[in-house]
Amino acid sequence: KTIEQEYIERHPGSRERYERAVRAFPSGVTHDVRYLRPFPIYAERAQGSKKWDVDGHELIDYSMGHGALILGHSHPEIAEAVADQVRRGTHFGAGHDLEIEWGQRVCNLVPSVERVKFTSSGTEATLMAMRLARAFTGRDKIMKFAGHFHGWQDYAIKGEQPPFDGPPPPGVPQAVADTVVVAPVNDLDFVEQRLAAGDIAGVILEPSGASYATIPLPEGFLQRLREVTKKHDTLLIFDEVITGFRWAPGGAQERFNVTPDLTTMAKIVAGGLPGGAVGGRDDVMALLEFRDDPGWRKVGHPGTFNANPLSAVAGATCLQMVADPRVQRHADEMAAKIRAGFNEVLVRRGVPGFCYGESSVFHVMLGVECSNMTSGDLRMPEGVDPVVLKRGPAPKLSLALHQGMINEGVDLFHGGGLLSAAHSEEDIAKTIEAFDRTVARMAD
Ligand code: PLP
Repeated sequence: KTIEQEYIERHPGSRERYERAVRAFPSGVTHDVRYLRPFPIYAERAQGSKKWDVDGHELIDYSMGHGALILGHSHPEIAEAVADQVRRGTHFGAGHDLEIEWGQRVCNLVPSVERVKFTSSGTEATLMAMRLARAFTGRDKIMKFAGHFHGWQDYAIKGEQPPFDGPPPPGVPQAVADTVVVAPVNDLDFVEQRLAAGDIAGVILEPSGASYATIPLPEGFLQRLREVTKKHDTLLIFDEVITGFRWAPGGAQERFNVTPDLTTMAKIVAGGLPGGAVGGRDDVMALLEFRDDPGWRKVGHPGTFNANPLSAVAGATCLQMVADPRVQRHADEMAAKIRAGFNEVLVRRGVPGFCYGESSVFHVMLGVECSNMTSGDLRMPEGVDPVVLKRGPAPKLSLALHQGMINEGVDLFHGGGLLSAAHSEEDIAKTIEAFDRTVARMAD
């Protein structure tokens, strides 16, 4: 029996749901990353490090709300706070105590954030950060890096997928694309030269490197980028939608001790509910202020669900807990064990590939070798084309890995995953065994 045959046989309930979903949604999915052939699994409930599918299987989860759930699924304190708030009101059309507490917690935790504004998603946060940079500098262009993901808005998606220098994605106006300069992977010389022209409002990047360390940054990269952006009066924007409250309580900027001008956040910031934030320097955030001066043109920021009470209570409760660095330390340790364990499996079985990542994330690459392969915990694979890293394993391998791991009770995310404070040593041991069996099946 093939991995795929087993997958189909084990999941009749998911298959039946997919057949209905496909009539409601294009390709049956509500987020591109959840697309899986021949059909994705459908979940019924989730708790801690696990979720259960509609066919009754328990899965150790590594998607963890696409990275939003560093405290695990349905953390009791957050669940209770949200349930309580639902009864008190889900939208006041007015300010409320919870939004103040939430905002203060963000300002206290994230080094660059003097003031903050809440949005409904990370995509909205990067849209606003780019607008603020343009308004503050009076320049039109934004620089981003090849392969870095900043959500699906028009200014963000150019140069995200290989080939990085292709035409604008379908539906993005050429005029918009022309305002976005895509820097080649980790190329600081290009940045330095291009910024000298004086027309770049802001440089945005994931401070982990593209797609949460899929293409890691070399040592000292962020420090040099900070210096060069300052030199040319260009705002530096850290997109901490994934790294925020994960790389450290204060995000990657705390971990690497580099302070950007603006920071975008989502996922963990809202404690597992929808929400995002943009924050940063006081003088930049001041552009959002109302002023009596008739000549003043503020940067607009409506948004029906900005700082809604449910996200606010979940976010504030979550931030109170993730301020304790033991949360991140535990998740980091569990991820390091996965990386080392998976590499040990690949070396022992003589299968080309490696598992790498930093902080509490891991990425699995199969069918390709890196020159510094060890059986240990790997952060920076060397000698592999960054385009290959970004693409991940060939589609056949990546499908077999994903299906095979689900058959073994593990749900990966994007061919890797994100850990949480709820993942236990036992989860990790089971996951490594599942990987061992899956890799053995794939080699058959
Ligand atoms: N920026 C980064 C680094 C992300 O990883 C994501 C989402 O995965 C986004 C922005 C977009 O956030 P959202 O999905 O909340 O719109």
